[in-house]
Amino acid sequence: MNLKFPIAESDAAVVRQKVLQVHDRLCIAYGCPIAYFRDLDPLSELVSALLSHRTRNADSGQSFQQLTERFVDWATVRDAPVEAVERAIVACTWPEQKAPRIQQVLRLITDRREGDLSLDFLADLSVPAARAWLEALPGVGPKTSAAVMSFSQLRRSALPVDSHHHRVAVRLGLIPAKVAVGPSHALLEAQLPQDWAAQQVYDNHEVMMLHGQRCCFYQNPACNRCPVLDLCPFGQVLLEPKNR
Ligand code: SF4
Repeated sequence: MNLKFPIAESDAAVVRQKVLQVHDRLCIAYGCPIAYFRDLDPLSELVSALLSHRTRNADSGQSFQQLTERFVDWATVRDAPVEAVERAIVACTWPEQKAPRIQQVLRLITDRREGDLSLDFLADLSVPAARAWLEALPGVGPKTSAAVMSFSQLRRSALPVDSHHHRVAVRLGLIPAKVAVGPSHALLEAQLPQDWAAQQVYDNHEVMMLHGQRCCFYQNPACNRCPVLDLCPFGQVLLEPKNR
């Protein structure tokens, strides 16, 4: 069934209230605080994120592991023949595109940091400044910059939005369906309390993603066991007898 739904609620205060209700209930359902799933330095997290684009986690994880086993450090990856990097990441999608892109990004960071191939300096910048610096690199958009800031050892407040998170937000009416994943980052992050700690922002990303994976499926969402059904116009329409 292809329901054209919903229109995002226009009252920002109402939406922010709903965001908190959804967050609290999903946190109960999925168990917040949620442990960070890894502890990479920010440059390693950036490479991992570049590998993960449109790739299954297991495959991008295998590619990342191969890279770190075959090359002693990121400078060696940067300076290696591109074919060697491509062979190491063959498990992920489009290794022939990702290998030169990763090397290009590593060279640019080296140049822009005057020889220092590291992103540890981002810890000294504000989150918006750090994300802007990252997004000036080729192939780095808001999801990748947020992942580097949030998932890496930086542990800063930034909200990555994946396709599950985006789908749940649209169905709940937090954002209009016409807003794509990229532009949704700014809208969804602005709906969160400004004083939230990084862990709370991370939890919000995790519970929205988990809800999309475990309940709010792309096809046949399990609305009748959803803890936020009463807040969800999409689910309520879907459960109307004429739509079943
Ligand atoms: S009620 Fe259905 S559509 Fe709405 S969030 Fe829950 S599972 Fe998704």
